[in-house]
Amino acid sequence: MLRLDFLKTILITPFINKIMSTNALKQLETVLPPSKKMPALFLGHGSPMNAIEENEFVTGFKNIATKLPTPTAILCVSAHWETNGTMITAMKQPKTIHDFGGFPKELFAVEYPAPGKPELAKEISELPTSQKILLDTNWGLDHGTWSVIKHLYPLANIPVLQLSLNYKYTPQQHADLAKQLNSLRYKGVLIVGSGNLVHNLGLVAWDKLNQPDYGYDWAIKVNQEIKKAITENNSAELIKIPNKDKEFKLAIPTPEHYLPILYAMALREKSDELTFFNDKALGGSLTMTSIVLT
Ligand code: ZN
Repeated sequence: MLRLDFLKTILITPFINKIMSTNALKQLETVLPPSKKMPALFLGHGSPMNAIEENEFVTGFKNIATKLPTPTAILCVSAHWETNGTMITAMKQPKTIHDFGGFPKELFAVEYPAPGKPELAKEISELPTSQKILLDTNWGLDHGTWSVIKHLYPLANIPVLQLSLNYKYTPQQHADLAKQLNSLRYKGVLIVGSGNLVHNLGLVAWDKLNQPDYGYDWAIKVNQEIKKAITENNSAELIKIPNKDKEFKLAIPTPEHYLPILYAMALREKSDELTFFNDKALGGSLTMTSIVLT
């Protein structure tokens, strides 16, 4: 390197670095501009058929949508994405994943072409969370996300990111991680947990699916217990519930459909108003109970 070039390099580089870091800061502000507090949701997603049917639950999702502001992005924690570590989708265009079998071909034809937002995924991965959130470019939107989000935002014009459930986490660790995402509520991000409070597919009364609000005694009892803990904002109890015995084991045989409620509830603030909707049992062993925090 010539002496003059060397001098230019050492003299100019700090200024370039300064300009770059200022630009980087500006860029972060652009990625997540401050907003009024966004609502947070837990959606009981139930059968993937809700994506293409018109029924009371779909009506419930559509009604709630009329009360929601337009977010700059949606971050959905779906029961259907469990991973080793916590991942966030970071692709420009997430694919619609048809992660089920035995359903009519119309359901496999559904696409929900919402864009992703890689720069937001990167920023979320850089939040000071207790466990690193890793960027993922392979997943997409599974039916836990698109079968319900499509009823809230049918134009698919709002970026949607998914956050996975780390299957090595305890319920307490899930709740702790969720708390650390709270700042996103003030940056235009709608955080959605998608699962079912009571979910035992093995015990579904398939012949009673069309019978309104049909729930087994244990399913109704556990759903009421969970609702009580939600209403009282009893986070210690909500964390214990997936490991409780007897009827809880029937209602929550595996934790993945329950865990998304911990994400929504961990975001709850004193000033939030809590509203239940779609609060019904389905096919004996499922409940569609959903909440919105505003
Ligand atoms: Zn599901």
